[in-house]
Amino acid sequence: MSEYSTIDLHTHSNKSDGQLTPKDLINKASNNGIKMMALTDHDTISGLEDAKKEAIKRHIKLINGVELSTQWQNRSIHIVGLNLNINNLDLINACKKLSSLRQDRAKKIGQKLSKAGIEGAFEYVKKISGGENITRHHFAKFLIEKKYAKNNSDVFKRFLVKNKPGYYSPKWPELSEIINLIKKAKGIAVIAHPLRYNMTATKLESLIEEFKSLGGAAIEVITSHDQKSEILLASNIAKKYGLSASIGSDFHNENNTWNKFGKLPHLPSDLKPVWHLWEENS
Ligand code: AMP
Ligand code: MN
Ligand code: MN
Ligand code: MN
Repeated sequence: MSEYSTIDLHTHSNKSDGQLTPKDLINKASNNGIKMMALTDHDTISGLEDAKKEAIKRHIKLINGVELSTQWQNRSIHIVGLNLNINNLDLINACKKLSSLRQDRAKKIGQKLSKAGIEGAFEYVKKISGGENITRHHFAKFLIEKKYAKNNSDVFKRFLVKNKPGYYSPKWPELSEIINLIKKAKGIAVIAHPLRYNMTATKLESLIEEFKSLGGAAIEVITSHDQKSEILLASNIAKKYGLSASIGSDFHNENNTWNKFGKLPHLPSDLKPVWHLWEENS
């Protein structure tokens, strides 16, 4: 068995804030040794068709995915939906609604930055997103290119976050609504990057408990950013709450220092892999 996992269930294309087209992303995955992959763009499934065509050519098993924005107790939480029926009308409509929420929020962020003396942000992100979903990642690119910030971590300390210039959070759909939506589309709901919400352990566990009771099924145990201690923490949560475990690099582009596309460690062997949930049913 290779040192690295050949499975990656959290990635982004330029249909949201990733750099590569869905086709190029699949090619890269193949070159990086990936055999099973989910494309999980922010609040859109529009890249899946192109990705699927290329995945067939490159012998990759492509899992239909999406990373949905939700809110829980006034915090923004990302839920990955896996193995979805992408013809489900509720899912299609929810993505449309979320895209327009993202568009309106981008305008608001632009106005907030402009109040802080930073002009031209909305025009810039509109242009580079090419009509696809806009995220804070696009604003980060602007702030770095215009030399307002050094790098991503600088951006997400000094801008775009609570009490800093350019912060605006829309009213994302509630966690319960998004989990129901994923279930209606016959998918599996996964808590994305659980350790990146800056929550206390108690708060995180109350999120997980509610997620589980609403029908959430899995948690990301391996992501690009994780240290060994974080993997252990997430593993323990998975076991305690009877959740399956997922693995995903959250690949956006090659410049991310935490980019581990094709270089993620294997899931700990004492956990239930999330893909067993769809392999059992097929
Ligand atoms: P949004 O869903 O629009 O709030 O934007 C979230 C996106 O911003 C994430 O998917 C990342 O692409 C990016 N992002 C958020 N926090 C960070 C961070 N600390 N470093 C780098 N990128 C980040
Ligand atoms: Mn992103
Ligand atoms: Mn995310
Ligand atoms: Mn992501």
